[in-house]
Amino acid sequence: MATVSYDESPQPVRSRFGRNRLTVTVAALVPTALAGVLVWQGVSGAGESDGDGGPPAAKAAVSPSASASAPASASAPADDVPGGGDPTAPTAPTAPTTAPSGPLAGKVVVIDPGHNPRNRDHTAEINKKVDIGTTRKECDTTGTSTNAGYPEAEFTLDVAHRLRDLLAKEGATVTLTYDNDRPFGPCIDERARIGNTAEADAVVSVHADGSAAGNRGFHVILPALVKGGGADTSAIVGPSRELGERIVGNFVRETGSAPANYIGSGTGLDVRSDLGGLNLSTVPKVFIECGNMRDSKDAALLTSAEWRQKAARGLAGGISGFLEK
Ligand code: ZN
Repeated sequence: MATVSYDESPQPVRSRFGRNRLTVTVAALVPTALAGVLVWQGVSGAGESDGDGGPPAAKAAVSPSASASAPASASAPADDVPGGGDPTAPTAPTAPTTAPSGPLAGKVVVIDPGHNPRNRDHTAEINKKVDIGTTRKECDTTGTSTNAGYPEAEFTLDVAHRLRDLLAKEGATVTLTYDNDRPFGPCIDERARIGNTAEADAVVSVHADGSAAGNRGFHVILPALVKGGGADTSAIVGPSRELGERIVGNFVRETGSAPANYIGSGTGLDVRSDLGGLNLSTVPKVFIECGNMRDSKDAALLTSAEWRQKAARGLAGGISGFLEK
């Protein structure tokens, strides 16, 4: 799709990457016509923290789709083997055919549940700065929560599990950047590396925003064109946008939620250059802020298991559409 090449910063311009966001206005779902509009956003701290919270975690936990990677060849029945001898051998192999099947067979998807519920107990660790190519930034953040105390980090893990199961059913090999298997983090740079190392076909970092009440809806965050230090998103800007656009369309359809009314000019898309999880990615990757936890109406959705399943379906649909194209 049309890719904007606004070279916001030719070189590692450190100071520029603070809080500014690049909001690109796009004709809704029309991948072309990108009128780049720079919008300065002085968003509230809570919501922000999570913007970058998005990135990955440490240990790649292989999803239940383990079956997907099960050795199919292992099932080679004796009687299929040329000259394979023993006539008394059972004719039908009992080994199930576990070769990946389904439309996403052979595809690798990494899901990054934003934050970690236990980050709050490890502030020293998560406040350590890591290199995100263009600048240095906190390892991770605690994320936000609803006013009633439902943590974003629990939301993101729940949606990640639902999404993993949906994608695995379609045959994808799914990895989570972390799965409640570590006391904090992973740091945002590590979250990015997990997707890179897996050579993922698509990575989605799941979040919910912490913006002002009245701000509602979801938005997908796309990587800006960033070059500097260890960051170079030039190869992923285009495919990530396509992934993001497909998610927007599917998310609307499955959840009935509208694109955010406070960012993205109604497109459901935002472009940012300050997120380590995107800057350091070498594979197509987007973040999604599924809604605003600080808005009571959005919070009612985000705290509903039924709605979270719809959200997962929206994400799965977008990812599938992107991978099957
Ligand atoms: Zn977040």
